[in-house]
Amino acid sequence: MKSILFAADATPLQIAAVRRALTNAGAASVSMLNGARSVMLIGDPAGEIHLEEYRAMPGVEDVMQQEEKNVHVSGDRPPMDLTSGIEGMTMIAGPCGIESEEQVAVIFAHLAKEGLRFVRGGAYKPRTSPHDFQGARRAGLEMASEIARDYGLQLVSEAVDPRDIELMARYVSVLQIGTRSMQNFALLKEAGASGLPVLLKRGMSATVEEWIGAAEHALVAGAATVIFCERGIRTFESITRNTLDILGAAALKEKTQLPVIIDPSHAAGRRSLVIQGGLAGVAAGLDGLLVEVHHDPASARSDASQALTLDDFSRLMELSRAVRAALREAPVAVR
Ligand code: PEP
Ligand code: MN
Repeated sequence: MKSILFAADATPLQIAAVRRALTNAGAASVSMLNGARSVMLIGDPAGEIHLEEYRAMPGVEDVMQQEEKNVHVSGDRPPMDLTSGIEGMTMIAGPCGIESEEQVAVIFAHLAKEGLRFVRGGAYKPRTSPHDFQGARRAGLEMASEIARDYGLQLVSEAVDPRDIELMARYVSVLQIGTRSMQNFALLKEAGASGLPVLLKRGMSATVEEWIGAAEHALVAGAATVIFCERGIRTFESITRNTLDILGAAALKEKTQLPVIIDPSHAAGRRSLVIQGGLAGVAAGLDGLLVEVHHDPASARSDASQALTLDDFSRLMELSRAVRAALREAPVAVR
């Protein structure tokens, strides 16, 4: 990727002049990364742009040809406040699927009491079998977003079809992309173009580099931010539903300033292991959790066996707060 770093006092006119020169010279795309300093990113697959010619233009401080391709993921960007539940963390919880008004109201009321800002609930469920519950769809989104609003909460929900994004953007604050869709580039593009934050699950067979590439697609398309979410990968091991790759998530944090959270529910596959997985994520210094909870797990229409009860969730929150506080006293990172 080619980029141009502007001087701290570069004027909008100087930046516009550089953009014009690049476009005239045949750049395929020109976009801005506005962090502490302005950086112009130049897409030039045809190799038309000779960066040295731009070095002397007013306002330009440096021209760079980086090895790093995924500049939106690896770059400096102003952090977005996604605090939910615990200071400096993004704790998200809710049912796997939106089922009924009673279910949503009871669960969201409890989560609001726990201080969460973001709650989850799937309206379009990507199920292994077409004969299983497929989700409450638009009616579910409408209902759940209204109840969330009543409790001062914001809804996170999964998109499975690019054609649903426009409608979903009316009801949700964060668009979730599921493990099965991680490399659905049309979906990533449409989700990014909504301008909403995108919660990007890791593909169950994806490497961390492939996951980064998927996030880059959403960011290039205009996503406000990407929240990476490790939810377990397929390995030879079948004792848990998926293998929770805590160190993969921690390694990703070395490559990006974007938040990386853990979904212990889909990794564990059963209630008895969800709290352990979540706490391991918090202890590893990750940025939050996405957890499935249900007021009556036995009646859940999807992922019943991994849903935490409301009391279980409160316990997870209490322990997470304690672990986080311990880390603040004695941080783990070694450089
Ligand atoms: C979910 O969060 O309910 C879900 C379907 O997750 P995943 O895409 O990780 O399987
Ligand atoms: Mn689920």
